[in-house]
Amino acid sequence: MFDKILIANRGEIACRVIKTARRMGIKTVAVYSEADAGARHVRLADEAVLIGPAAARESYLVVDKIIAAAKATGAQAIHPGYGFLSENEDFCHACEREGIVFIGPPVAAIRAMGSKSEAKKLMEAAKVPLTPGYHGDNQEPAWLHQQADAIGYPVLIKAAAGGGGKGMRLVERSEDFSDLLASCKREALSSFGDEHVLVEKYITRPRHIEIQVFGDTFGNCVYLFERDCSVQRRHQKVLEEAPAPGMTPERRAAMGKAAVEAAKAVGYVGAGTVEFIANQDGSFYFMEMNTRLQVEHPVTEMITGLDLVEWQLRVAAGEPLPLAQEQLQIRGHALEARIYAEDPAKGFLPSTGRLVHLAPPAEGLHVRVDTGVEEGDEISPHYDPMIAKLIVWDTNRDRALARMLQALADYRVVGVANNIEFLSRLAACPAFAGADLDTGLIEREKAYLFPADEALPDEVLQIAALAELLREAAFADKRAAHSADPRSPWHARDGWRLNTTARRTLLFRHGDTDQAVEVAYLPAAYRLTIAGRSVTARGEFNPRGLLRVELDGTRMDATVIAAAGRRHVFAKGRAWQLAAVDPLHHAGEGGGAEGGLLAPMPGKVIALVAAEGATVEKGAPLLILEAMKMEHTITAPAAGTVKAFRFGVGDQVGDGAELVDFEAAA
Ligand code: ADP
Ligand code: ADP
Ligand code: MG
Repeated sequence: MFDKILIANRGEIACRVIKTARRMGIKTVAVYSEADAGARHVRLADEAVLIGPAAARESYLVVDKIIAAAKATGAQAIHPGYGFLSENEDFCHACEREGIVFIGPPVAAIRAMGSKSEAKKLMEAAKVPLTPGYHGDNQEPAWLHQQADAIGYPVLIKAAAGGGGKGMRLVERSEDFSDLLASCKREALSSFGDEHVLVEKYITRPRHIEIQVFGDTFGNCVYLFERDCSVQRRHQKVLEEAPAPGMTPERRAAMGKAAVEAAKAVGYVGAGTVEFIANQDGSFYFMEMNTRLQVEHPVTEMITGLDLVEWQLRVAAGEPLPLAQEQLQIRGHALEARIYAEDPAKGFLPSTGRLVHLAPPAEGLHVRVDTGVEEGDEISPHYDPMIAKLIVWDTNRDRALARMLQALADYRVVGVANNIEFLSRLAACPAFAGADLDTGLIEREKAYLFPADEALPDEVLQIAALAELLREAAFADKRAAHSADPRSPWHARDGWRLNTTARRTLLFRHGDTDQAVEVAYLPAAYRLTIAGRSVTARGEFNPRGLLRVELDGTRMDATVIAAAGRRHVFAKGRAWQLAAVDPLHHAGEGGGAEGGLLAPMPGKVIALVAAEGATVEKGAPLLILEAMKMEHTITAPAAGTVKAFRFGVGDQVGDGAELVDFEAAA
């Protein structure tokens, strides 16, 4: 076994690999960019090497810098994690050349599966069933268009080198093909440095079912069952589970066999995933093979009781697979939810900022949290916006689902927009709970997942008011303790005031409405009145911000975090945001990023779509910004004229930068 390995990655996966290495007594070396100097993976590793500026292209993706770091620290092997260089042939080659073990498959297997087109050709030869489509070499737009017409719409254009749901365009009508092809190629080139595409029949209501495979250098290859990753947004997985609901032993064996054949066809070694797209009747087609450890590997670990990173390390060190196919078993059910810094209500727009408050649920036998960040850390615009993966396990799916809902309700994040509430709704929605799965679930369940603004329950407002009052009281206590005359009535915190009654009004803004809470001070309690409805409230804070509340004798726990003028109330399994309004100031909101002409986040201008001087309709695309590995289209806020662009193609823009001089039509 190795004495020391380097992890050529960041975030949760780097932390995940370090954990297993440490347990096995292997020393770890982290690499990091300037933006990650204080990151969790750097803190956890035994050694860490700075490899360049924030941009991945200048740090995590630079083969030479990583190889140099491995040599300088004497690391014998490199774990690439997922993403970044994990499926990069040149990197694998460079490791080989330098006598460093690449913890992953041989170069030839990466090459064979690296292009979705080439992989399909190989699988065709190995008689693995394929999604119908064109995966040839002719890349002429007119030719591809003709192929799409022949396949029949809807079709999916995919970057052959794509991954992570990027570089994919659904085309529903022939007349849209050319534009979508161009935009697909643009994204493919910028994300993967390769604009080769393939065209596939778009399967309707499919499920994404993938098989975890593992090979060793002795020619053994096993499958560790399936994962169902059908619940996706933007072709990206959000909720994953194992085993797949409704899977029969026969179909599992058939898919397992097909996956092992696919792996054997390319001489596979190490951990890999063969992805299939399955029809509702259970028939399945090969989609692609990911030649690395997958983001969602923990659900497989939870149902098999195995550590896949340990298996990777053993196989890379030349050991045989620890178990044979007959020794592998499924126990119970596991679910994984990807917690992202993104705003589901704004089309899942990624969010950046400091994690002012971060309290994940307690880990244990049933709950696991894989993360790369801690409270106080930053979600930067340079990398993937994933905050953590929340994994739960129990003896069956219903119980696992109950665990998931509880864990999500306990998860508290303040500082960036996040998808926790969305995930709760998703996990609870009848289609998911009933295991009626397909990749269109989120789109179809929109009404349930994105409810119209709900009225604020009285309790939430009462809790917010109580938190405010308790904080004030604690502050008054502290001040009194430091003053010369602690008993002075000026320090009293019971609302006693000269010439006034012990009454006041607290104001909170929820959405567009101001909500008033009238407060009357009682001995060791408050009388809170909202629109004529009164309760007696008391409570106390613990140091982590957890608030124990009693409302008319009913006890409950809540969390109230104050950040940037807002009050984040976590109560009744949900999160609510209120703005604390100071009645003396009545500050107008003003400012605001209205109209969509400001950069929603730092990024790079990649295309100017409208012409300067052009008159456009409301909603017309003006320019395209690339940020956090995604394209964002900035559209006209109203009908009007594009007077001038403030930036050119290739320019880097800051958060909130004004992008376009735009004049709305009168
Ligand atoms: P990536 O490399 O980005 O993971 P995949 O080829 O695995 O690309 O596809 C990602 C997702 O896109 C799939 O999980 C599935 O939801 C959807 N998808 C891919 N191909 C098809 C298809 N032919 N028809 C319908 N959906 C598809
Ligand atoms: P698929 O490739 O089929 O989508 P995954 O969901 O495991 O399967 O894909 C993850 C891919 O998306 C990685 O290869 C990587 O490019 C990107 N990705 C997803 N999450 C992250 C992350 N947290 N950090 C870096 N890359 C990520
Ligand atoms: Mg995939």
